[in-house]
Amino acid sequence: MSGFIHKLLIAWFVLLLSACGQSSDSTPIPASSAKLQVLATFSILADITREIGGERVQVDSLVAANQDSHVFAPTPQDVKKITQAQVLVSNGLGYEGWLARLEQATEFKGKIIVASDGMSALPKPNHGEMGHDHDHSAQFDPHAWHDPTIVQTIYVRNIVAGLSQADPAGADYYQKRGQAYSAQIAQLTANIQKEVANIPPEQRKVVTSHDAFNYFARAFGITFLAPQGVSTESESSAKAIAQLSEQIKHEHIKALFFENISNPKMMAQLTQETGVKIGGKLYSDALSNADEPAPTYLEMMQYNAKTLVEGMR
Ligand SMILES: [Zn+2]
Repeated sequence: MSGFIHKLLIAWFVLLLSACGQSSDSTPIPASSAKLQVLATFSILADITREIGGERVQVDSLVAANQDSHVFAPTPQDVKKITQAQVLVSNGLGYEGWLARLEQATEFKGKIIVASDGMSALPKPNHGEMGHDHDHSAQFDPHAWHDPTIVQTIYVRNIVAGLSQADPAGADYYQKRGQAYSAQIAQLTANIQKEVANIPPEQRKVVTSHDAFNYFARAFGITFLAPQGVSTESESSAKAIAQLSEQIKHEHIKALFFENISNPKMMAQLTQETGVKIGGKLYSDALSNADEPAPTYLEMMQYNAKTLVEGMR
């Protein structure tokens, strides 16, 4: 990042903070009967945290449903949410490139939970000119929630531990809810494995609009090709699209998928050039609203799997 932009960002944070008044130090501590105030960085993590925290927590999300965490820019309202939170749940692995600065700017002193802490992450996919991300220093692919076994083990463990530290009286409660939720995720994994098994291995190839499904690919043996790199931030070049068109034809790929957080225009162009159908919408980095098919983590995973399997058939 250039020094100029860096200075601009700092100036902007200072503005944001002053816009919120001096309330950060005087935030009243809720009475012991009040719920633990938890803020997750994005909707998927908020849902997982809600499942574990149950009645003892009030969970809000910084990046809302159907919104893109890669290009998130906090508003004064978001800064206020952080200053009022007792627990902050993030994904880690460089996913929230904007978070460290926000934590510093707000002098956040609550409990910080990094859901992916302790896992062995996949490397960030290298797409040359197409690969472009907010956090240039990030070495890892952050989209680990697309492997449900990682959520079942690592994410649940970290969130149970973090909530228990912030609210020791609820430790048993979080432990039990974490176990019950883990069992549901294990069932989900088994369901997806069963559905994918219906597709012959050589047919398990799809194209998506941003490179978010490497963990899903590894977990379920599906090949994902993506023209946009790991972040939604960059525009795919004409050259990259032309290359992908060739590959789609060459590998006899049957379906293209777009995502709730990305622009489907490029996918329409690929369909036009290759004659391959659009297999539908996948949910990668954000849940849907309640009246759409992926309002929870479990429903999102189930919906993605069903959509992919139908497209590959
Ligand atoms: Zn992403």
